[in-house]
Amino acid sequence: MISVPHSMLRLAATCSISIFALACAHAAPRMPPEAPVKPIGVALSFTVAHDSSSPDIETLVSRLDLEKYKATVKGLTQFGDRRQGTDRNRAAVDWIEAQLKSYGCQTARITYDFQPPPPRPPRPKLDSAARARAEMWNVGGARSRGVRAPTGVNTDSMRQPDPKLRALDTPQSVPGERQEVYCTKVGTTHPDEMYIVGGHMDGIGWGEAANDDGSGTALVMELARVFSSPDVHTDRSIRFVLWNNEETGLDGAKAYVAQRQALQGIESPKGSGQYPEPKWLGMIQHDMMMFDHGMPRPDGTVSKEQRPEANVNVEFQSKSKFAADAEKLAWVFENANELYATDYPAQVGRHMTNTDSSPFMDIVPALSLRENERGAQIGNGWDPPWHQHTHLYTTYSDKDFRLGLNAAQTTLGAIATLTGAKVTGAAH
Ligand SMILES: [Zn+2]
Repeated sequence: MISVPHSMLRLAATCSISIFALACAHAAPRMPPEAPVKPIGVALSFTVAHDSSSPDIETLVSRLDLEKYKATVKGLTQFGDRRQGTDRNRAAVDWIEAQLKSYGCQTARITYDFQPPPPRPPRPKLDSAARARAEMWNVGGARSRGVRAPTGVNTDSMRQPDPKLRALDTPQSVPGERQEVYCTKVGTTHPDEMYIVGGHMDGIGWGEAANDDGSGTALVMELARVFSSPDVHTDRSIRFVLWNNEETGLDGAKAYVAQRQALQGIESPKGSGQYPEPKWLGMIQHDMMMFDHGMPRPDGTVSKEQRPEANVNVEFQSKSKFAADAEKLAWVFENANELYATDYPAQVGRHMTNTDSSPFMDIVPALSLRENERGAQIGNGWDPPWHQHTHLYTTYSDKDFRLGLNAAQTTLGAIATLTGAKVTGAAH
């Protein structure tokens, strides 16, 4: 964990910032008017009123619903594992776009080419000291603790006992053109600036990729639904992106950065007031949101039940160029969790890795939200259905889906705060 006393971190979550343009209205009455607001860090200073929620945001959060979230995950699983470069993947992109349009969210696609890289040369053999180091430190920089269980990707079709699903998942990926879909809520006063909210719609493993990443994809789609309601207005823009090709190495997110980074903040056509690529203020990824059943037992098995102390992991990457600002952003999310999430708390960590926020982390403050830490927990076998044939909609209980819903409440609360969301005519 972060080597900063908890009290200081709470302080960091109670101050006011221009770059995030956070609405500070709730904090103001709680502070004497002459009290100086001490900026935290160099570039940023922002205020989070950690003990007062906004009635408008409460209204928005109340529009999230467990059954709707489950229905969206279920809708995604009709396309099996949605592996990139297949008809079932393309059908899923079409289905996602149709849903986004039905919510009233303006959709667009980007197109890119994907050619699988040549197979990696075998890794050099490690001596015992190097092996011990590799076992101690996980991807992302987290230290391994406790019992480990094996992880991997299922490539054996016959492990899928359901013949219908096996047939659906059988056609293999063909190199070539790929597409991914996004939609945008345009801000009223600053349409030229936006937060990017993402999840990846492709999966692997001869199952239904229900959690990795049906759960994050459904979360992003649900937020697009809530923010696209005609009575919701935001000062700044929000882009909801459903990445493709995450499982091949974040290739959809990398294609987005390659094609669109240079377009940020450019009005086009000139004088139109339209910004096809608003300036990026932050990027928030959602990848595996539902399964926090605890550490494997000594025999390698994992509890069938969501652990009561399950939480939403909010991670930044301490080695990224924007680590300091990303950490501040993480505390905005932790704060939103405390205000708006109904069941499960948030936990901030510094080991974000192996998901679509990575290509953004040296360009803007970037976060990922997850069920567990990717390196030391998921990477140590805490999520047995991950990338396996058991990765099905029916694998998950309502307690699991509810953890995903709590992440949705967290991100909705944070993004609504950061973009100054208001509901017109809301009865509070
Ligand atoms: Zn994933």
